[in-house]
Amino acid sequence: MFRTRFTEMFGVEHPIALGGLQWVGRAPLVSAVANAGALGFMTALSHPTPEGLAKEIKLCQQMTDKPFGVNLTILPTLRHTPYAEYRQAIIESGVRIVETAGYNPEEHIIEFKKHGVKIIHKCTSVRHAVKAQKVGVDMISIDGFECAGHPGEDDVPGLVLIPAAADKVTIPMIASGGFADGRGLVAALALGAEGINMGTRFLCTVESPIHQRIKEQIVANDELATDLIMRTLTNTTRVARNTVSQEVLAIERKGGATIDDIKHLVAGVRGGTVYEGGDQNSGIWSTGMVQGLIHDIPNCADLVARIMAEASEIVAARLNSMMARRVQ
Ligand code: NAD
Repeated sequence: MFRTRFTEMFGVEHPIALGGLQWVGRAPLVSAVANAGALGFMTALSHPTPEGLAKEIKLCQQMTDKPFGVNLTILPTLRHTPYAEYRQAIIESGVRIVETAGYNPEEHIIEFKKHGVKIIHKCTSVRHAVKAQKVGVDMISIDGFECAGHPGEDDVPGLVLIPAAADKVTIPMIASGGFADGRGLVAALALGAEGINMGTRFLCTVESPIHQRIKEQIVANDELATDLIMRTLTNTTRVARNTVSQEVLAIERKGGATIDDIKHLVAGVRGGTVYEGGDQNSGIWSTGMVQGLIHDIPNCADLVARIMAEASEIVAARLNSMMARRVQ
């Protein structure tokens, strides 16, 4: 049992979060994570409309009586995205925990706070963490270069980024990018975080609403099987390496590519067909380097229990015995 500022602030049993997963952060997975004693986030933009999001939140509220939150990511999109309307849908739904991510979420943070919503802001640099604290977020999710999705442009891995951020922010922080097991949890706590955020690990669970073949592909992939695409557009995205990611990189290597040159390849709607149909080469889909540590497809309750048991064992047996040996 680990009690941290994360478990205390959000009233959850374990210091583990499921961050926003585009297309996947829906009621079945988020409620399973909540019922396992961790904190799940639904993904606002997985729903084409704010009304669709409101419906899915209601469904999740019927599937769990435990706390859960909603992720609102502010990055360039191919379609018009009415962020203020999504924000309003979240506020009206009664959800009181939000994960913001992406560009300058200040306007949303101010509005959420007016309604008593607690905010974890996910960011990939110390300077953005410091700025988010100044703007009034309640917690930082500091996201290392290992992560799936958008690692930012600075390429600082968690081993340095987490303690560097811990040295500069006073509000609590969770660590994101590269976490899948109890070893990672203990390491994150040692580096100054109050818990871990996992995406790829929860993507590969029984309750994750994606095709079984894609879960098996994550198990088969190693830590090398990701690509960083859209680097030339300053919107770097880590995705599972496949024929489409390689095609995007080939276009980018030619130089001078714009979003118009690659949008038919990177469109999120096309990526959604991977999860639905199970063909890993039918579009772009996100995984982190941590897929190299994923070897099975457990249910969320077993996964969370296993991580907590591993973490306890590492602290109580391995680390304690090392301390004892030193003292003798
Ligand atoms: P989308 O289909 O609108 O866009 C596909 C990709 O192209 C995204 O990575 C997007 O950031 C990028 N893009 C779009 N227009 C761009 C431009 N003008 N310049 C540079 N890059 C551009 O994206 P989607 O899959 O429907 O996702 C919606 C939003 O959520 C995107 O901004 C995406 O980056 C973000 N996202 C969120 C999560 C999450 O878990 N919350 C995960 C992945 C992506």
